Amino acid sequence: MAGRPASGYLVERSGTRVWCDAGPGTFVSLPVDSYMIDAIVISHQHPDHCSDIFTAFHAWTYCPEPRTGVPLYAPQEVWDHVSGFLDGGQGSRLRETFDFRPVWTGDEIEIGDLSVSFIEMDHSVPTVGSRWEAESRTLFYTGDTGPKENWREMARGVDLMLSEAAYQERGDDDYPHHLTSAEAGRIAREVQARRLVLTHIPPYLDVSRSVNEAEIAFDRPVSVAMPGVSFDV
Ligand SMILES: [Zn+2]
Ligand SMILES: [Zn+2]
Repeated sequence: MAGRPASGYLVERSGTRVWCDAGPGTFVSLPVDSYMIDAIVISHQHPDHCSDIFTAFHAWTYCPEPRTGVPLYAPQEVWDHVSGFLDGGQGSRLRETFDFRPVWTGDEIEIGDLSVSFIEMDHSVPTVGSRWEAESRTLFYTGDTGPKENWREMARGVDLMLSEAAYQERGDDDYPHHLTSAEAGRIAREVQARRLVLTHIPPYLDVSRSVNEAEIAFDRPVSVAMPGVSFDV
């Protein structure tokens, strides 16, 4: 939808900048010069979370001062799909531009002052949720997920939970691997997240209704991730 990129966020901490999910439209919406991005983290292979890897690849590769070795953390399947899209010559340039490092449940990485740990989420393809920590401040990002219990402990007590909310109410025929806004609110309350920010609300839904349903379940004010809006954790 015009002016509303898909999933993608900048996580910033004292000079360290990480692009978390690379959905379409997010590369050109980054609030900093893309050469200031230290690393990329991608939750899963669905195009609404990773297709701007190709935008970054072109911007950083076919230019007078190419970038090389940009760390890219994601489940192995993300790299398999992205690299499978390109033919030989471009494929080898892709491997020069990005330094791919697979992550999965139990992995913990350090990027500058940020430490990030990962857990498998409840989605139709291999997907990681991520818990970000710096000086005891914490953020949990769901990526795409259904409400299964397995991942919730990872979000316990975080200062800010960035949660998908793809639905408003669950119909019997709905795909089970996304959350309703009420489920996002209930889970955030259950894990005692201090704040809840909704994302992944499709453009055909009324955002104010999603917020309202989440607030009733969370029993506190809820925010929405929008282009150009930032949150201090
Ligand atoms: Zn997905
Ligand atoms: Zn998605």
